[in-house]
Amino acid sequence: MTNAEYQDSYSGDPDIAAIDKAEVGRKLLIDGLERRIAGQFSVFIPVGVIGWIASLTDNRALWIFLGLQIISQLAITASSQWLLRAIKAGQKSTIRKNLWMVAEASSGIIWAAMMLDVGTLIGGSDAVLTTWVTILVTMVVSVLLAAPIAGIAFPLLGGFTAAVAAGIWLFGKDFSSFAELALAFMCIALFILAKAVNLQAHKSCHDGIEVERLSQRLAEELRRTSWLSQHDRMTGLLNRSALQERIAELGDIPTPLILLDIDHFKQINDSYGHGQGDEVIAAVSACITETLDKTAPDALAARWGGEEFIIALPECNVPDHQADAAEIAESLRSAVAKLTHQDWPARLRVTGSLGVAYGPASAFSATFKSADSAMYDAKEQGRNRIVCADDQNGKVIKPARAA
Ligand code: GH3
Ligand code: MG
Ligand code: MG
Repeated sequence: MTNAEYQDSYSGDPDIAAIDKAEVGRKLLIDGLERRIAGQFSVFIPVGVIGWIASLTDNRALWIFLGLQIISQLAITASSQWLLRAIKAGQKSTIRKNLWMVAEASSGIIWAAMMLDVGTLIGGSDAVLTTWVTILVTMVVSVLLAAPIAGIAFPLLGGFTAAVAAGIWLFGKDFSSFAELALAFMCIALFILAKAVNLQAHKSCHDGIEVERLSQRLAEELRRTSWLSQHDRMTGLLNRSALQERIAELGDIPTPLILLDIDHFKQINDSYGHGQGDEVIAAVSACITETLDKTAPDALAARWGGEEFIIALPECNVPDHQADAAEIAESLRSAVAKLTHQDWPARLRVTGSLGVAYGPASAFSATFKSADSAMYDAKEQGRNRIVCADDQNGKVIKPARAA
């Protein structure tokens, strides 16, 4: 993450966006539609049982209702998957939803018709009882399976209840009062149960969405906190401890160091204000990153403190690997010396003095001391230049490269 990306990713708003009811309903509907075909497998059992009874009792009407039930199940499959595709594609889906509900309701009506018909035709036998129990159990199972989305449970149960009531009151199907009472009780109980399961499903789904959002938010915050713990917020460069940790992981790998200190920075602050000073620090950091991207992409750059920067160059000065550390330092020096900005005061000039030292990553402290001493030597020699140190004892032996 770069500094700019970090700034972009931070909304500063700890609230989780409110979850609206329609969003929960949509998620439940998609989940339900995705599971709809699997749920239809439970219909194989009653269809098989009733088919068996129809063959035993040679009941033609039952065969016809079974055929209609299979057609309505196929209609449910087709309409539910058609609807699912429309919802996922974000298309308008009212007609498809209505068609699907009609298919569900027709299935309920056909189950009821089977019950009413078998009762009259066969009358009181074991076959009737088996058909009734099979259909009632099917209704209970189907309604409960479908209850999380009201779109399935209520049309199915509504169709069944309306058809049973119509059979009894309108078409004069005659059952015992006990059977009618039991049926009425079952339908009412199923409506209440379906509503309770539906409410519970909405609540669980709402909580699920909330937990998902919270964990996303938490992951984002962790990423941000981890970034902040390793970087300097003002410049986006690594901070001192993160650089040291990374260098400690490099072991004996040759890792030259460059120290860069902005020249006469106090004067910049005094002449143009601290805000301008901050801008110069940020601009020098960006310039370091940009130059290293071109010359040493594996380099680790950090803000050591104030207007001082450190650049570690793992594997640098290994034959055929990277440019010489002194050459990289020179490219940094010249890039900083060219820094300007249209909004800056015309007389503002930015330069830096750089110290370079060579050594393995494991000898970081000693190499740092040498680079620091070389950097001070560059200051003494007139600033805006680089000085390379001897990696043995920190003594400056290489000639300074003047600007
Ligand atoms: P030299 O060329 O010898 O390095 O001189 P210099 O003025 O750059 O060095 P000196 O160490 O005297 O001054 C560094 C100043 O940098 C002192 C401090 O107030 C200022 N400074 C440190 N951190 C920040 C910062 O984050 N923002 C601003 N604006 N100033 C800072
Ligand atoms: Mg300084
Ligand atoms: Mg300085």
